[in-house]
Amino acid sequence: MGGLVITGGRVVDPASGMDAVGDVAVMDGRIAAVGTSLGGAERTIDATGLVVAPGFIDLHAHGQSIPADRMQAFDGVTTTLDLEAGVLPVAAWYRRQAAKGRVLNYGASTNWAFARIGAMTGSNSESSLEAFGNAMRDRRWIDNVASDTEVGGILDRLAGGLNEGGIGIGILNAYAPGAGVQELTAVCQLAATHDVPTFTHVAFMSRVDPESAAEAYIRLIGYAGATGAHMHICHFNSSSKTDIERCVKLVAKAQSQGLPITVEAYPYGTGSTVLAAAFFSDPEFVARNGTGYDSVQRVADGRRFRDREELLAAQAAEPSTLVLWHILDIENNAHHRDLLDMSVLYPGGAIASDAMPWTLSDGRTYTGDAWPLPKDATSHPRSAGCFTRFIREWVRERRAVSLLEGIRKCALIPAQILEHSTPAMRAKGRLAAGTDADIVVFDYETLTDRAEFSAMNRAAEGVRHLVVSGHPLITDGVLDVTARPGRPVRRPVAEG
Ligand SMILES: [Zn+2]
Repeated sequence: MGGLVITGGRVVDPASGMDAVGDVAVMDGRIAAVGTSLGGAERTIDATGLVVAPGFIDLHAHGQSIPADRMQAFDGVTTTLDLEAGVLPVAAWYRRQAAKGRVLNYGASTNWAFARIGAMTGSNSESSLEAFGNAMRDRRWIDNVASDTEVGGILDRLAGGLNEGGIGIGILNAYAPGAGVQELTAVCQLAATHDVPTFTHVAFMSRVDPESAAEAYIRLIGYAGATGAHMHICHFNSSSKTDIERCVKLVAKAQSQGLPITVEAYPYGTGSTVLAAAFFSDPEFVARNGTGYDSVQRVADGRRFRDREELLAAQAAEPSTLVLWHILDIENNAHHRDLLDMSVLYPGGAIASDAMPWTLSDGRTYTGDAWPLPKDATSHPRSAGCFTRFIREWVRERRAVSLLEGIRKCALIPAQILEHSTPAMRAKGRLAAGTDADIVVFDYETLTDRAEFSAMNRAAEGVRHLVVSGHPLITDGVLDVTARPGRPVRRPVAEG
């Protein structure tokens, strides 16, 4: 006997189109069968009245730690990847994750920003949020066009990361707006040669030219067309902001002509990043973004900046400070809600959180083992409620899409975006015999995010059971704090 069987739930599997009551049997970390009357097992989960679906796959999560995993587990996530930023060096990062153990399946791309920092400033520190903030004190890699020698150094570091199994190349272009098109064309050619995707935070996000979001998308479309590289657009919502209508037209037209471009979005009108980000120092910040300095809020104490002087002073004092950027006022502005819908409901687009690490009130990143998290831990609500919020509001309450389509955006589409270059993803995002046993079981009627900007440290509710790589991590709504079932997701490592 052995194994596990989940009985009597509403099985919703976008890959097969199944949406019916049935059983799911699990053996040795994989789904053994999906059907009815699948008989007994060593362990049975009664899912009567609940939804049984493939675990959600987050393409865009910067937490990458045990506390961040646990919060995302209650958001229905079973696989959490950092593809936008990525890591460098790649092999060392995977070794470290395996050594400490992870609660969710995990993985990362190769980090272009740190390749640039290394090649242009000589500082080859391992990638992390703190190291990123500190690196912003030396603006050469942010503002300068790279020399041919430096481009060579960047490409070598990226190729090394890909050969170590990195899931493509993460391009934080907006954090180094000085990078030239010749360099990025070479980076995309490298991606095309390795047949891997790139994951881009586009270069510019302004609603007005020059250096507008539209200009940045035209560049990205150009990279796809001129190099054949698969260009994945990160957080289509926050990169496009109030100019999303124009950006949607550009991207949709490019896709309709067969260009390899994919899209993701998160269901919030507020972004989050580090204070030293180049776009905050832009003297035309207000005119170009249509948001005042009070739209930028420090996470640790909730302070909203009064003016440019105050922001620049805080930037100089502590560059890696985490801040919120209130871009679309979806609570009070119906038009802004419609704009957010354009990215969140983009056809064929994935839901991805852009989850941030959990920070303590003294600004340090929390990586400890306490559950629940320490009271003063904060991040962004999307780090706790992105997927449950999407299903609660866009699927259940507003019926903007069906449950099958909603789960397609949260699980199957993210897997499909990666499966061509990362074979391990062909066994994820679906419920079928032989696929990985990453399964979320939730109460559709009560599923909800609970994290808010005034109270972020709140786990979502409604996920009754969560199975990660065949291991029940959440049972009857309770987390197994001893469990570390997370497995690495990685491309094959090059020989030699
Ligand atoms: Zn980003």
